Amino acid sequence: MANPKSRKDLDCFKRQIAKKYNLPLFKTSELISIYHEFTLKKAKPNYSLEKILIKRPVRSLSGIVNVSVLTKPYPCPGKCIFCPTQKNIPKSYLAGEPAVQRAIANKFSPYKQVEMRLKALQATGHPIDKVELRIIGGTWSYYSRVYRKWFIAECFKACNEFNKRIRNQKSGIRNLEELQKQNEKVKCRIVGIAVETRPDYINAEEIKFMRELGITKVELGVQAIDDKILKLNQRGHSVESIITATRLLKNAGFKVSYQMMPGLYGSTPKKDLAMFQEIFTNPNFKPDYLKIYPLALVKNTKLYNLYKQKKFKPYTKNQLIKLIVEIKKIIPCWVRVERIIRDIPPTDIVEGGSNILNMREIVAKEMANMNLACKCVRCREVGANYESKERIYLFKQEYEASGGKPASALSGYGVAREIFLSFENKNKTKLFGLLRLRITDKTAIVRELHVYGQMAQISRPQGSANLSQHKGLGKKLLAQAEKIVYAEQFNKAHCKRSRSTKQNRFSQIAVISGVGVRPYYRKLGYKLQNTYMVKKL
Ligand SMILES: [Zn+2]
Repeated sequence: MANPKSRKDLDCFKRQIAKKYNLPLFKTSELISIYHEFTLKKAKPNYSLEKILIKRPVRSLSGIVNVSVLTKPYPCPGKCIFCPTQKNIPKSYLAGEPAVQRAIANKFSPYKQVEMRLKALQATGHPIDKVELRIIGGTWSYYSRVYRKWFIAECFKACNEFNKRIRNQKSGIRNLEELQKQNEKVKCRIVGIAVETRPDYINAEEIKFMRELGITKVELGVQAIDDKILKLNQRGHSVESIITATRLLKNAGFKVSYQMMPGLYGSTPKKDLAMFQEIFTNPNFKPDYLKIYPLALVKNTKLYNLYKQKKFKPYTKNQLIKLIVEIKKIIPCWVRVERIIRDIPPTDIVEGGSNILNMREIVAKEMANMNLACKCVRCREVGANYESKERIYLFKQEYEASGGKPASALSGYGVAREIFLSFENKNKTKLFGLLRLRITDKTAIVRELHVYGQMAQISRPQGSANLSQHKGLGKKLLAQAEKIVYAEQFNKAHCKRSRSTKQNRFSQIAVISGVGVRPYYRKLGYKLQNTYMVKKL
């Protein structure tokens, strides 16, 4: 192929070929598959060409491509007054959402949903060797164990067999472990799995099962941290259960995301802001990720009846923008704000400000006008601004989070500390990589290791082109974490305890690793032990 310098060159080139060989015009997606064929045969990747071919590079800027998969329609244990009831789709989602449409088109088959999404990503030129699965559709923990295991196995199978002619007709449920092992070696690896569930469904047994399935991140439907508001909206769980779930999940190494819903029945913008203030500062909460889904008033809900009786009024557009700006002002640097609005078709929303789809941009503009910028992880991820010559610095931030009650012998966890390591530029406006290390009385566990930048393919040689992945940042962060844990063995505060416990406690470090990332840790001296990658120090 000639070497086009721009999209225009590419179009010109396509026309030339068509004219010369009397063929219809090539589609860009066809060129991309040809390109992939070539690089698969170990031809050298051509980065400038890739840049022209890839339509929306933003999708893989976080280094990983997201694949959302919907579970089948199933009754939800909740009776939330704001939740619509539509036939044949999981309750908290409406038929207009893109992921829902994809699921319906594939009759909720996890295999086909994954395959379809991967094909679409590949056709638009995205590398698909690091996949983060996001399983949505309802309360994950409420589905039968058999269904859940089958669902995950099918997702692994779809990735393992992607772009291959041979298909295994057998369902994967019996050999999930085998499928996971296979996934460590295939092109399309699952580097993380996120599920959504309710705080009151999290317990030790559930956590064990989640780990067997390969889940690494849990999104908790928190909505509010006020018992009165939770009750008014018939959420069916308490603040206490949120605190417990957060602690259990973090202790097991999971990344914890909170879904928060400002504008609930019984709340006010002032109360909402106070709740956010609390989740960022009270050690009982402190989530790693945050989704802000302002309440959307839709028909077919109990809340709609209250609205008609003039007992409830949703926040206006201005109220909502103002509130989110205030929330963004107080976001700590270790939180990643994933979303601030849900893809609900604006036409479904009866009234209020939650139908603004470009909320993120509006809020960013408002903040820029005030000379402020959001400090969250997402807003600082380096993405396309990576310059190879930029100097980067290692930062360490320590905070207390989700410890056990000191008096409780049962939990055994006293103070628990989170150590947030990051590579950033000098003025901390660009984030190149991060690591979350949790240290409790009993364990030292890495909950997250992530390097940002345009996704570099796993097979590529180190140091090629301007990509911040595979330049050893991840390795450096991990080495730093190991050093910290090693030093803990000699920490004065811990030496008061008996010798025997002292010897055991920090002699090892564990990592919750996505199945597809296990080979990476193995190379660094880690071994698989009870679904975690563990290294003796
Ligand atoms: Zn942000």
